[in-house]
Amino acid sequence: MTTKKTAAFDQQQMTSAMGKARYLWTTFARRATSALALAAAAQAFGALAREMDAYDAYLLLQHQEEEGETPTICAYEEVLIVLSRAGENWYRAAKTLQASSEETLPTAFANREALVTTCLEQRLRLVEVCTHLLKLLQKKHKILLLVESQLPGYEDDCMYLVRIPNSGYLVCCNAATEEHCIACGRPTCPAHFSARTLYVQDREGKGDFTLCWKSAQLPREELEIVRQLRLSLNS
Ligand SMILES: [Zn+2]
Ligand SMILES: [Zn+2]
Repeated sequence: MTTKKTAAFDQQQMTSAMGKARYLWTTFARRATSALALAAAAQAFGALAREMDAYDAYLLLQHQEEEGETPTICAYEEVLIVLSRAGENWYRAAKTLQASSEETLPTAFANREALVTTCLEQRLRLVEVCTHLLKLLQKKHKILLLVESQLPGYEDDCMYLVRIPNSGYLVCCNAATEEHCIACGRPTCPAHFSARTLYVQDREGKGDFTLCWKSAQLPREELEIVRQLRLSLNS
């Protein structure tokens, strides 16, 4: 009998990434001298606990698949929701941490970027879980809901999707920018703006505004539809 391996990564690695994150936060909580820093640690622990729950639920789904069952779309959705909530809490914790001016912070926690890098291994595992779930959803249910949302504090990073070389993954470009595409509304860096413009005259301004490369491929009527939908969702 052969063992079918459906996991894109190994369970042990995931557990050790989680364990490392937990250790870092425990160290931080012990050294914290301000209430804000402690609050950040508590928030991060909360996020970790949610991620562990989501991971357990994910393993259960995987087990069901190995048994030949097809978990419902809601079951996948629940795991994704828990993961995205955990993600929000992570970034709130990072923001609190930055505001705490904690003097005894280990260098790994000196600022948000350092923190994100420190916990990257664990974050990457969770991204893998998300990617795997989305692939399964697409395969079994023939739909893919792609939600592009920006993490709090990262509002000015380019959200144009670029492919990681030699892989099937698309990620946000993330280059710093303060401009957005007039059609899709994504923050877009100079490299991802096309030469094409769209004339608008409404609450977003008056005149010719630049389109990102993706939007620039759409005919005018479709650009209007994209804009109107975005404006109505944002109002
Ligand atoms: Zn666009
Ligand atoms: Zn870009």
